[in-house]
Parts: sequence; structure tokens; C-alpha cells
Amino acid sequence: MPSNWHTSTRKSRLPKDWERRRKEVLQLQPICMICGVRESTTVDHIIPMTDRHEPEDLQGVCEPCHRQKTAQEAAAFRAAAQKPGRKRPPEAHPGLR
Ligand SMILES: [Zn+2]
Repeated sequence: MPSNWHTSTRKSRLPKDWERRRKEVLQLQPICMICGVRESTTVDHIIPMTDRHEPEDLQGVCEPCHRQKTAQEAAAFRAAAQKPGRKRPPEAHPGLR
């Protein structure tokens, strides 16, 4: 995947005490908030593309769920960026009636 659209600047925008906040979230939510099965190993921003790092904006998730969520967000972002404005339903081919 060539797209680094949201990882490129994120690191520098994280707060100084990010590491501490991250650990707090993982302590509060030791089980993945998405699948509810696996252990939380990473902290997810519930709403992507924000610079909010408050506890209520974060959730503990497992790595597979986080990867999936991030991929979906990236896909949605790309789709939104490419969208010409409105969506037209495909027209029926006139020769196939
Ligand atoms: Zn999970």
C-alpha cells in the first residue's frame, strides 16, 4: 500500500505525554473495543484525522482490528477525494433490452 496519507505527519503532532495516555487507555480497555475478543495492543483514534488525543477520543484495540479500521478509513478517504460530486447510477445498456 503506497499511501501514507495520515501517518506522515501524525507522529510529530502527538502530545508529549502520548506514551502515558496510550498506556492509560490500554489499562482501561485491556480488551479490544472493536472485536471484544483479543487483547488491546494499540490505541485507536475513534474519529480518524483529528488531533484530539483525549481519553474519550481514544480506544484500546487489537492490532488486526486497528489495521482493518485504518485500511477502511484510508479507502473512505480516497473514495471521498476521488468522488466527482455526486454519484450516478449506472445506466442500462440500450442494446440489452
Ligand atoms: Zn479486535
